[in-house]
Amino acid sequence: MVRLRRTPAHVPAARRKTDDLSGTYPAYTEDITVAGSLLKDRLSLIVDTITGRDEERKFELAHCLNVDKVQLVNRFGAEPNIVGTVHVTTTHLIFRADDGSKEIWIANGLIENRNELLAFENRDLIEDLPGWSRLDWDIEFGRQGVSDAWGCNKINLGYQNCDTYPERLWLPTSASANVVVGSTKFRSRGRLPALTYFYRPTGAVICRCAQPLTGFSARNVEDEKLMELIGKASSTGEVLYMIDTRPKINQMVNKAQGKGYEDERNYTNMRLVTFDIDNIHVMRQSQQKLLEAVTKTTSITDYIKTLDSSGWLKHVRSIIECGIFIADALIKGMSCVVHCSDGWDRTSQVVAVAQLILDPFYRTIHGFQVLVEKDWLAFGHKFDDRCAHLGAQNDEALKEISPVFTQFLDCVWQLMQQRPMDFQFNERCLIEMHEHAYSCQFGTFIGNCEKDRKDLNLSKRTKSLWTYFNSKQDDYLNPFYKPNRVSCLVNLDTRAAAFSVWHSLYNRFDDGLLPKENLSETTMSAIAHRIAELKGLCGRGSSVSTSMVDSGHDSSGTNSEAAGDLEDGKLTNRLLSQESGVYEQTHQSSGVLKEDEDLIRFNVRWQPLRNARRCASQQCLAEFPSAVDRRIHCFTCGRIYCRRCIKMCDVRRELVCVGCKRETA
Ligand SMILES: [Zn+2]
Ligand SMILES: [Zn+2]
Repeated sequence: MVRLRRTPAHVPAARRKTDDLSGTYPAYTEDITVAGSLLKDRLSLIVDTITGRDEERKFELAHCLNVDKVQLVNRFGAEPNIVGTVHVTTTHLIFRADDGSKEIWIANGLIENRNELLAFENRDLIEDLPGWSRLDWDIEFGRQGVSDAWGCNKINLGYQNCDTYPERLWLPTSASANVVVGSTKFRSRGRLPALTYFYRPTGAVICRCAQPLTGFSARNVEDEKLMELIGKASSTGEVLYMIDTRPKINQMVNKAQGKGYEDERNYTNMRLVTFDIDNIHVMRQSQQKLLEAVTKTTSITDYIKTLDSSGWLKHVRSIIECGIFIADALIKGMSCVVHCSDGWDRTSQVVAVAQLILDPFYRTIHGFQVLVEKDWLAFGHKFDDRCAHLGAQNDEALKEISPVFTQFLDCVWQLMQQRPMDFQFNERCLIEMHEHAYSCQFGTFIGNCEKDRKDLNLSKRTKSLWTYFNSKQDDYLNPFYKPNRVSCLVNLDTRAAAFSVWHSLYNRFDDGLLPKENLSETTMSAIAHRIAELKGLCGRGSSVSTSMVDSGHDSSGTNSEAAGDLEDGKLTNRLLSQESGVYEQTHQSSGVLKEDEDLIRFNVRWQPLRNARRCASQQCLAEFPSAVDRRIHCFTCGRIYCRRCIKMCDVRRELVCVGCKRETA
């Protein structure tokens, strides 16, 4: 039997294409939240039948207890798919491989509770609207302070010239329709140079595009003209950098296919710069090796050898170096036009890294979502293909899988290690974004481009990931963040030793490898605790009944049938204090402050995060599946709960456990 927290880092997600189990993107996965949303109907059906609420469904039930021919897909494509059967029981969801090689059990209690199911069913579209309109081009370019030399061009209305680009493109206003259309014909897949970032202090810009269709000697007057106009639209100088992120060998291979790179001599204002960032196939193999190193090796020699042969850190470094080059160029007032082959993998990585370095807005939770919306989703990174949302059905599709987005998140994490005070979000934000790029639980990352998402009408049919992120924003806050401390992240370290393996992502399910207490988490809970304490000292709030019980005061009045839950709480409390001494302090201090009711509402001692392996609720007892799962303190009783067992106290705007909330209500 496979236990959840022992699952390897490359969590397989099983998906079945044709079954009607869950609509267009059916999935059975070890990710309990995903499994929950997709199998909720089946579970509620079973509950209804068992509780006798729905007699008629019994026949139907017999048919849906097992779902066979389910494929357990390895989400990084690192291991072959496993075919098996999903058994839906009243207590567990079980996946069994047909050949007996794998068996996964997930307790239904971990999946969803009934209230959440209901909330999911009744999802409010209006409430979801801000999530689905995270990126508004006018607002974003207005925020950037784009000059009058740039404007929205109608060239791609209805996606007529480029179906993988956004519908609205910002181009130099001086460019005639003739020039623009001419350039789309000369760029691979019509992906012409378009504005993505305007650096206000110098007026320099980042434009992105795909490789030119030069072959060995082809020229295109309109494309050359457009580059000239882009140079002129930048206020500081006409010369610009043409950045090709590909190694020379890739460029030559493309040249032989009628594509290739620009000839500097044909452009009046261009300096060609190339970077050696490898292609998606190299990155896919690299990540497989990396995962092998961090999960399978036993000796140090093996680990270092495998890590070295993966080349992962080398690749991450080359992306960051390119991002730094672009950022430096803009600071010096030089505009950059960036491309790789199609301009949706390496280009997305490096321009996004450059913007993170340049603009503090993108280092906030909201701003980072805008950046992902803009340079990944709108400009057409192929999430469906790269993340194999539909499972790779053939060899061609297998070759499309690549951890390009994960690698970008890795780059962001590396920057966060160097500048821990300059990011509003923490690494959990990145890890959950990674999870949901693969999970298909939200519509945000589904599809290969903006047009796909419009065609699928996802904003009406699915929930936006950003709405979900908004609802639990405090999970993603970095306690060390100092807003606007610096504007640009200058002098980043790119020496070899500055790069490290992101174990919190790749080893998040490994027991024992990650620190038991994470510095950021401990600080966060210490701050929350301090606030609770101060509030208590200031005498705000009035309820005392719960803390009387929780802090160990004995009262025969509570010893009744109705107070059964309270008694349970007290019992646990005592057991804990006997075991670890955690609550002893509480008893003493509340004893001292016995007379002042306001001062004892809060527990002075909170349960340490160390060794907090499961939710303190006796009804839940859910294990925290990975090291990054949020462990939340109840302000009233001080014990640690999972997210589902913590609620916001309506009166005092504090997080309290379900038990304490019920008692104060
Ligand atoms: Zn509580
Ligand atoms: Zn819980």
